[in-house]
Amino acid sequence: MDNTALLKLCYGLFILTAKDGEKDNGCVTNTVMQITQNPITVAISVNKENYTNDMISQTGEFNISVLSESADFGIFEHFGFVSGRDKDKFADFRDIKRSDNGVLYITKNTNAYLSCKVIEKIDCHTHTVFIAEVTDAEKLSDENSMTYDYYHKNVKPQPEKSEKTAWVCKICGYKYDGEELPEDFICPWCKHPASDFEKV
Ligand code: FE
Repeated sequence: MDNTALLKLCYGLFILTAKDGEKDNGCVTNTVMQITQNPITVAISVNKENYTNDMISQTGEFNISVLSESADFGIFEHFGFVSGRDKDKFADFRDIKRSDNGVLYITKNTNAYLSCKVIEKIDCHTHTVFIAEVTDAEKLSDENSMTYDYYHKNVKPQPEKSEKTAWVCKICGYKYDGEELPEDFICPWCKHPASDFEKV
């Protein structure tokens, strides 16, 4: 099987936010799709390792902020490469508002947000698929949405040329120096497995 065929699927990029009591958290996701129009429902897929997954499982509430092409690598580092268990991601992040469901959404470098209420939860190996009704939504700007393809071509840092062999994560650009990458290696930034690394 040619696994690179999967890279031809199209995705957007989003900040997924949720809360648990007083604690707000958010992570980066590329898996949001509208499922039905009446009522409006969406499906998201969230890694079980993510703190946001625990929060959504408990509260059934989340927001999706749609990233636009103006978003820089910093927002991916901020929300994607650190766990909300270790850091309050909103302690020093000011471009936010709270929607009627009590959950934060991102107001800068985004072009829309959706508020969602979970109606079904599906256990899928490493991930949970949440099906949710969209309870509120707002367009924030006319900028183009950021696609996963745009991120790879224009946002993610390109690996530096070096003499030594290294392995670079195709998802986030993390560089592992060494001849061989351990088979069970997990990217410390984005948590993707060794199969998402390429030798440079
Ligand atoms: Fe990575």
